[in-house]
Amino acid sequence: MNGIVVYSELEETALGLLTKGRELASELNKPLSVALLGEQAGDRAENTFGYGATQAFIADSPALTPFQASTYAAALKQIMTHAEADIILIGSTRRGRELAPRLAQKLSAGCVTDAISLSVEDNRLIVERRALGGNTVSAKVITSQQQVVAVMPKLYDAEPMTGGAGEVIPVSLELQGPTTKVLERRPKEVGIGNLEEADVLVCIGRGLNDKGDLSLIQPLVDSVGGMLGCTRPISHEYHWLTEDQMVGLSGKESSPNLYLAIGISGQIQHTVGVMNAKVIVAINNDKNAPIFKIADYGIVGDLYQVVPKLTEKLQSEFGQ
Ligand SMILES: Cc1cc2nc3c(=O)[nH]c(=O)nc-3n(C[C@H](O)[C@H](O)[C@H](O)COP(=O)(O)OP(=O)(O)OC[C@H]3O[C@@H](n4cnc5c(N)ncnc54)[C@H](O)[C@@H]3O)c2cc1C
Repeated sequence: MNGIVVYSELEETALGLLTKGRELASELNKPLSVALLGEQAGDRAENTFGYGATQAFIADSPALTPFQASTYAAALKQIMTHAEADIILIGSTRRGRELAPRLAQKLSAGCVTDAISLSVEDNRLIVERRALGGNTVSAKVITSQQQVVAVMPKLYDAEPMTGGAGEVIPVSLELQGPTTKVLERRPKEVGIGNLEEADVLVCIGRGLNDKGDLSLIQPLVDSVGGMLGCTRPISHEYHWLTEDQMVGLSGKESSPNLYLAIGISGQIQHTVGVMNAKVIVAINNDKNAPIFKIADYGIVGDLYQVVPKLTEKLQSEFGQ
């Protein structure tokens, strides 16, 4: 077995993985292919050749709609066999995280999820992921014959190449019907958009006493044209903001130009999500709060006094 397959249900993520996959395929001397699953999967095949895939395995069996992790795992296992591949790179989206370990189990393969870096050393794939609650990074080598790696989405930008060409290979899969039945679908409560793309991110933490005090924060957020995020207790314990507004290890990662932390202690599980912010400003009434260790500018004070004054100043400067 000798080949790399890329799969993600998100086209941009798949193209980013193909872009990185080109480099890995060349260093490991393996062919690079893509798996496209579900309705009208074939429509996306041609585009993938411009990003490095030399084969596109397509399967649009009715069993693949709607998404069921176990069915997709069975499909990818069969595609790995067709492709004679030993490595699969999957986008570590919510679906990808569900899928990767199931596929690994079917292949009896080692699996690493939430990879933050891929490289080649001594002809081996080195996969890095965060460990110990985000306090450190560990490098892994999967020693099984086949390897399943789920890579953080958006880690690699999709960069087209010139002169890419490939072969479309329709695959007929043997898939069993779903083992679970969907009884009801409810739309998830959504906050204010995608924090991962915020230019200015304002996050609140447990320093805020009451949900009603959000009315104090919102004018500040508006004055800098920012997006509002939070720490885990705010979204998951108090439910003042939605799940998709949580920033950190188990939430969103963001690389804004400006990150403003209000009443946030600065535990690593939160700050790991904003490590790449260009400028970090923190407001906290405890001068020893860990957030000040990573802040470019720190204001030691009561947020209930600082925030209104800061908002007034920003509004007078920027007129919002
Ligand atoms: C496996 C795991 C994963 C986790 N993932 C995440 C994650 O993804 N995201 C996340 O956020 N957390 C995560 N956590 C939780 C994380 O460890 C912290 O508990 C959390 O980030 C703390 O939130 P906080 O800063 O709002 O609260 P606290 O730690 O309680 O800090 C509140 C801060 O507010 C300050 N303050 C109080 N009153 C005022 C005031 N009037 N004015 C100014 N400052 C004031 C205090 O000095 C304090 O520093 C995770 C934990 C674990 C174990």
